[in-house]
Amino acid sequence: MSMNQDIQEVLFTPEEIAAANQRLGQQIAHDYQGKNPLLVCVLKGAILFLTDLIRQIPESVEIDFMDVSSYHGGTTSSGDVKIIKDLDVSVAGRDVIFVEDIIDTGNTLKALGDLFASRKAKSVKIVSLVDKPAHRNQSVKADYVGLSCPDKFIVGYGMDYQDRYRNLPYIGVLKPEVYL
Ligand code: 5GP
Repeated sequence: MSMNQDIQEVLFTPEEIAAANQRLGQQIAHDYQGKNPLLVCVLKGAILFLTDLIRQIPESVEIDFMDVSSYHGGTTSSGDVKIIKDLDVSVAGRDVIFVEDIIDTGNTLKALGDLFASRKAKSVKIVSLVDKPAHRNQSVKADYVGLSCPDKFIVGYGMDYQDRYRNLPYIGVLKPEVYL
């Protein structure tokens, strides 16, 4: 059965996502000229975003990956963040940019920001493809935001529900019966 049949509404088309990536890439290229920033991709949801974003940055950058978990397969945040895979490289003295798919409560990025400050990163900024401000319970703000979304659980373009729907080329909302 096609995954498209599970989608109630498309919030962002592939074209809107591409335009956001282009804009974010230009901003980052402008702000980080000659700095060789380390882009830290928070797995797994941000991988499509990372791979498209870095192709819009005509400056030298490095990438690394971290896997953290805060959602445990459901649709609400539990508040605690567990590091499942840490970085391969040191962040000491580096200009770090967290690459996130979506900021919801802000718990994940608050915990990672604190951790990277203690690891003596030179600077830490956040780029998030999607911002969902409705449930924010930390004073976390993305420095670069692509798209703003309403208070809905979204899937597609890397984002999952129970590890499915990541390969949808658009971002959408599931039909309520999919959760049953
Ligand atoms: P936060 O810690 O800000 O509450 O959540 C961050 C992580 O939760 C995101 O990186 C993402 O993996 C997941 N998340 C938050 N909202 C959504 C959503 O609407 N859909 C999906 N698929 N994941 C979400």
